[in-house]
Amino acid sequence: MTEEVKRVFAFGKDANGNNVTEGNTNMKPVLGGKGANLAEMANIGLPVPPGFTISCQTCMEYANAGNVWPEGVLDTIHQYREDLEQRVGKKIGDPKDPLLVSVRSGAPMSMPGMMDTVLNLGLNDESINGLIAQTQNPRFGWDSYRRFIQMFSNVVMGLDGDLFENAINVKKAQRGVKDDTDLTAQDLQELVEEFKRIFSENVDPDQYPDLAREGVAVFPQDPMIQLKLAIEAVFGSWDNPRAVLYRKKNKIDDNMGTAVNVQTMVFGNMGDTSATGVAFTRNPANGDKEFYGDYLVNAQGEDVVSGIRNTSPIAELKHTPGLEEAGKELEEVFVILENHFHDMMDIEFTIMQGKLYMLQTRVGKRTAQAALHIAIDMEKEGLIDKKTAVQRVEPEQLDQLLHPQFDKNATYDVLCKGLNASPGAAVGEVVFSSEAAVKAAEEGRKTVLVRWETTPDDLAGMIAAEGILTSHGGKTSHAAVIARGMGAPCVCGADALHIDADKKEVIVAGTDVVLHEGDMISLDGSTGDVVLGAVDLVLPELTGDLDTILSWADDIRELGVRANADNPEDAQLARDFGAEGIGLCRTEHMFLGDRKQIIQKFILNDDEEIRADCVAQLGELQKGDFLGMFKAMDGLPVIVRLLDPPLHEFLESPRALDVEIAHMEEQGAPAEEIAAKRHLMEQVDSWSEANPMLGLRGCRLSIVFPQLPKMQVRAIAGAAAELKKQGLNPQPEIMIPLVAFESEIETLRATAEEVVAEVAKEEGVELNIKIGTMIELPRAAVIADKIAAHADFFSFGTNDLTQTTLGFSRDDAEAKFLPAYLEQHLLKRNPFATVDDGVAELVKMGCEKGKAANPALVCGVCGEHGGDPESIMKFAKIGPDYVSCSPYRVPLARLAAAQAALAK
Ligand code: ADP
Ligand code: MG
Ligand code: MG
Repeated sequence: MTEEVKRVFAFGKDANGNNVTEGNTNMKPVLGGKGANLAEMANIGLPVPPGFTISCQTCMEYANAGNVWPEGVLDTIHQYREDLEQRVGKKIGDPKDPLLVSVRSGAPMSMPGMMDTVLNLGLNDESINGLIAQTQNPRFGWDSYRRFIQMFSNVVMGLDGDLFENAINVKKAQRGVKDDTDLTAQDLQELVEEFKRIFSENVDPDQYPDLAREGVAVFPQDPMIQLKLAIEAVFGSWDNPRAVLYRKKNKIDDNMGTAVNVQTMVFGNMGDTSATGVAFTRNPANGDKEFYGDYLVNAQGEDVVSGIRNTSPIAELKHTPGLEEAGKELEEVFVILENHFHDMMDIEFTIMQGKLYMLQTRVGKRTAQAALHIAIDMEKEGLIDKKTAVQRVEPEQLDQLLHPQFDKNATYDVLCKGLNASPGAAVGEVVFSSEAAVKAAEEGRKTVLVRWETTPDDLAGMIAAEGILTSHGGKTSHAAVIARGMGAPCVCGADALHIDADKKEVIVAGTDVVLHEGDMISLDGSTGDVVLGAVDLVLPELTGDLDTILSWADDIRELGVRANADNPEDAQLARDFGAEGIGLCRTEHMFLGDRKQIIQKFILNDDEEIRADCVAQLGELQKGDFLGMFKAMDGLPVIVRLLDPPLHEFLESPRALDVEIAHMEEQGAPAEEIAAKRHLMEQVDSWSEANPMLGLRGCRLSIVFPQLPKMQVRAIAGAAAELKKQGLNPQPEIMIPLVAFESEIETLRATAEEVVAEVAKEEGVELNIKIGTMIELPRAAVIADKIAAHADFFSFGTNDLTQTTLGFSRDDAEAKFLPAYLEQHLLKRNPFATVDDGVAELVKMGCEKGKAANPALVCGVCGEHGGDPESIMKFAKIGPDYVSCSPYRVPLARLAAAQAALAK
């Protein structure tokens, strides 16, 4: 036995003017967004042409059955159709006074323009006479009929829209007129005949036996066949390629289906007192409180957005002769809608012979700037409270506000596209090496660093360049992660670029462009666009609105927000953005540049004296770094991580050395020099590991080379002591990376404490430096209680924890197999971008066990996930006290943390 499921819902009034609407705005999953809000508008007394909605579930049942109608549904639809005819007092197809309807798609999530709609359905060679007789307007009648044939052929039968547009253009040329409104009734009647001919010539009769007459497909005259085919076409449009692509891009579920709205037509094309338009209740670009939109007199449907004629701004509507009343009423409706929905709304309307009809409303899309402005204004107006205001801004959108952008008024051609890895726009000369970028910057020239993929060696160049462009790597590739950390624009994985760094040229596949060093290019890291030449950049207008919303967010959120930064400028920036400390200060970047030789000397020499000398030099330099950092963050915690990466990252690549040796041999270099290079290569080789990410790194370095952590701790403690003597309040904390065993942290903590005590004594100041660990191996999370006994804090390094939990190498997964996983829906999200549930479970376990064993333990998250809103949602529920992210993401994290608290 199957239960009766309600599949069709009426909206609008009956013949006596009573509201018979069966739905409301909360029924979007059933009625789709359009249907649910048509119902809602009818319920609050706005003028909505009556109709009915077929549910989204019906669409999915039809599709899942292989485009077969569920039993009984067609009958129900016809009951509702007859009911509608009774309510309106007209019948579809009536030769004297026909009812015309639109058949409109409408999914639960807004997918603007993605699916299909047919207008003026019900016209045929007989009912056209009734329409003309009733309206006394032959031009309108023929215009409606030609539009119907055009839309039906295009949307339902899939014919090319150009076939019809071309015919219209030919007609306009014959008549010597410019606009479609200049065509006469006679012209349009001829076009109808022409359109029917185009239909027959292009529709395959074998595919549509219902329409075949003597072996030729004929435009359907039976309104019931028109209706059934149109509904089926709307169902089918859920799976048209652009709708599928849109859902993928916007992470919309494929199984929701679309509703179908069958609605009485009202006509904006009945002459000069008729019009159609679209509007927003406020300015969606900047958020100003003004009515915003356009209308077109004597027009229908998509004419406004299709740009066939120039539109007029909505403010003029109430001053347009014949439209004054409707214009005033529309402004009242704007206010009614805002008061009802408590949000900025997007509206579609039509005016028929001076009377206003509402055809659609939904919450309006807006820029970040507008979102902030509108939320604050609405709070002031008492429409929403602060909590709601904080939820009205999407965290990801804030990125738009913080970086330079392409000028919206600029015109340009996109040369190629890559991944939008780090937002903001950059303009500069192409350079192929870090050195070239640094040199250019010294000479005051702006550059874009173009690389196959970046490595830690490129850091100086990445800092010097305006933007970074790579042909390989995903959104968490080295280039992407570092660029986001620095707030530098980055487009990565632009695979049309064939880079030859030696020849210093780039062939751009699919174009005849070859880029050379020094050529100007522009890139937009928010869209992934790469452009040949310089596009004008503008700094986004920063308003006090951001501060206001973030201060409201700070009052609501429970999670702390810190930043990952390893130089004083970034630390200051983070502080300006509201960071409450540094959650991760990496020290490996402090060994690059000129200092690389010193660490290389350390690594490659066995002589203890030379090594001690290197360590002493590095210690001095490190102390200088820490002085700057602690000063910038005075009074706030700064967690310094001891040296972490595999040491070979500081050495030259053996492959490059091999090439160099070959060159030297070719050019007949002295034998000793070649021998020395070869020796170097052997040494370097001896440092390489099969699995460096699982190798000699993290705290294992400190176990093998105890002089390194001692030097670093001494530098940290020394810098703190010096600042204390200056009357400042430095708050450094020491973090031991990649701990798996409690014994590791136990011994390293003891060593660190010893050094701190030594420094305190030497300097004669009291030093309380907390010591903790990074939890980034599953074992550490599982035995967190044991580790917590030796730790003042935990910081979950979720990048490594993801690698080690999933056994996915971050450096390879994105290029090699993650795309297939995402494509085949084995994974919903890239686990390096949004924290995986299994990894989150380990974080939860680590926090619980750790805090149970050591109630004073402070827990944070410092992986890339700390700046991802979806991950922040998860972390808010499972125990960490704060998240730490790159400086540019601090505002976003503050907002996301507030939204997470509200969601709880
Ligand atoms: P989309 O989802 O692409 O916006 P719609 O279903 O809203 O498609 O239809 C597009 C346009 O067609 C509407 O904005 C409106 O101008 C016109 N339209 C749809 N239904 C009607 C109707 N019943 N009467 C008059 N115009 C209509
Ligand atoms: Mg619409
Ligand atoms: Mg790590």
